[in-house]
Amino acid sequence: MPTYSPPLRDIRFTFEHVAGLDEIAKLEDLAHADLDSAMEVVAEFGRFCVDKLLPLNRTGDVTGSKVVDGRVVTPPGFKEAYQDYFEAGWNSVPFDQGYGGGGFPWMVALAMQEILNSVNMSFALCPLLTQGFIELLTAHGTEDQKQRYLTKLISGEWSGTMNLTEPDAGSDVGALRTKAVQQDDGTYRISGTKIFITFGDHDMAENIVHLVLARVPGAPPGTKGISLFIVPATLVDANGELGERNTVTTVSVEHKMGIHASPTCVLEFDGAVGELVLEEQQGMRGMFTMMNNARLSVGTQGLGLCEAAYQAALDYAKVRLQGRAVGASAGTSSPIIEHPDVRRMLLTMKAYTEAARALCYYNARQVDLAHHHADADARTAAAELGALLTPLSKAWGTDLANEITSLGVQVHGGMGFIEETGVAQLYRDARIAAIYEGTNGIQAIDLVLRKVPLRGGGVLADLVGKMRATASELDSAGDLASIGVRLTASLGTLDRAVAWLSSNAADPEQALAAATPFLRLLSQVVGGWLLGVEALAAARALSGGQPDDEAFLETKVATAKFYADHLLPTVDGLLATITAGKADLFQIPAAAL
Ligand SMILES: Cc1cc2nc3c(=O)[nH]c(=O)nc-3n(C[C@H](O)[C@H](O)[C@H](O)COP(=O)(O)OP(=O)(O)OC[C@H]3O[C@@H](n4cnc5c(N)ncnc54)[C@H](O)[C@@H]3O)c2cc1C
Repeated sequence: MPTYSPPLRDIRFTFEHVAGLDEIAKLEDLAHADLDSAMEVVAEFGRFCVDKLLPLNRTGDVTGSKVVDGRVVTPPGFKEAYQDYFEAGWNSVPFDQGYGGGGFPWMVALAMQEILNSVNMSFALCPLLTQGFIELLTAHGTEDQKQRYLTKLISGEWSGTMNLTEPDAGSDVGALRTKAVQQDDGTYRISGTKIFITFGDHDMAENIVHLVLARVPGAPPGTKGISLFIVPATLVDANGELGERNTVTTVSVEHKMGIHASPTCVLEFDGAVGELVLEEQQGMRGMFTMMNNARLSVGTQGLGLCEAAYQAALDYAKVRLQGRAVGASAGTSSPIIEHPDVRRMLLTMKAYTEAARALCYYNARQVDLAHHHADADARTAAAELGALLTPLSKAWGTDLANEITSLGVQVHGGMGFIEETGVAQLYRDARIAAIYEGTNGIQAIDLVLRKVPLRGGGVLADLVGKMRATASELDSAGDLASIGVRLTASLGTLDRAVAWLSSNAADPEQALAAATPFLRLLSQVVGGWLLGVEALAAARALSGGQPDDEAFLETKVATAKFYADHLLPTVDGLLATITAGKADLFQIPAAAL
């Protein structure tokens, strides 16, 4: 089992210098959440995760969740750990205080999610789905629905699920066929089969509340005709008390490549009682609230796995003796960390992980501002920037998780392929995050077709403006100037990619062909920018007297420089791919591929 300790120093630094937590804590609703209080919460939660959940990660992987007598049984220890989790109040930290929440900023919740995913991604999925449900009900539920469901979901006594996928409706959610028929009492009867439902059944919470997408009779085809329903596994009466079981059956749980402890269920809704959220055929509007929230959280899952893989690889590289490093005494074996190629892998892991942390927390800052800023224009600007960044957080965060956990295996050599080191599990668990919650291909399409054109391209232009300002600050910051040069060059490359997209706007297939490399290019630049912001902050602290963590600050600068020199130049290759366009993709007929 890999050891892990929460990266509190870097979390604090990112809160302070990238996400601006102090400024967020000045907003009226969040005034109690200053940097020190937030870090106390994160540190205490980190202790809980390491003590209770890290030891269950491997046993959960080996045992998996299973169906016993028609109900899902989670691996030993999960039920008790979940009880401890919600009784300690961890589930409620960022939510509405009016319904029992702790009212902390979203970025604090995100730091907690990072740690939770580093120690046990399977466990983390249960609160992740619940959290999306809470967000949706908070935004769109009636007061009666909030009274009956929200308090228990916020406390974590009940858990939530998200039911979109059906056998013929995956990326194309609009193809779903589950039916909802209204009854005389105003409730609906829901019938259909949903597949791949995370924590669709389990034994950890007292009740499971499903959010189900379905169609009412006569609804138009596609996403326009979708409505959204609350369907509790055990019925909830007008006073919020539990009654009989609803007619929702767990058909099976999937046998998967990873996240074995997270039950991925096939659910059969057989005339199950449901209640409408929003109005009929407004379902996708509601679901987007939940999905945007979940997309940032899935990106943060990727971040958590990157951090866990990096820590494991670093520990191993310090103790594994193999080969003689250049300059080492004859007849000795060196720790592999002394070999340049291993250094390259470790620095790649470290730099990408810190860049992904900066991106996800900066994205969460926009969520906090969009919800809580007193000024409507500031709320709109934050919501727009958050919308632009969300596909980056989700897709880049999870693509990096695949790359970084793979490097984690590589640093371990043959031992990385052996399950007992735990790094193979990180690699297997990471794989799904690029697929669910909208595949990364779908995220890239969302970016080029919907997010780049936001406000006539103005949202992206504003972001580029911020990045240019940082680049000029770096240019005139002595030792950091070389980072500024690289960042400026990458911004030029980004400009050319955006110009190509715009000059090819008449042919949407060009944008669709370029979407994935464009998302990577923009993410690489944003990552370089945010590490540049961190380098400037670290340099200021270093020159401002007697910092007590000089080594940490110097490492920050060096990491940003490594990123600028070794990782940022990949944007040039990406630009070439983007501007090659669609032509080559369809040269070979499908039958000849
Ligand atoms: C472990 C696990 C947990 C899950 N949890 C949930 C859950 O809790 N709730 C839920 O509702 N669903 C859940 N899902 C389903 C998940 O969200 C879907 O698997 C995902 O959205 C992709 O759908 P699909 O599997 O049908 O793939 P497909 O849609 O068939 O996609 C296959 C490939 O084609 C690409 N593709 C598809 N359409 C397009 C297009 N228009 N343009 C370009 N490329 C395209 C995709 O990017 C992908 O690479 C889960 C899945 C798994 C495996």
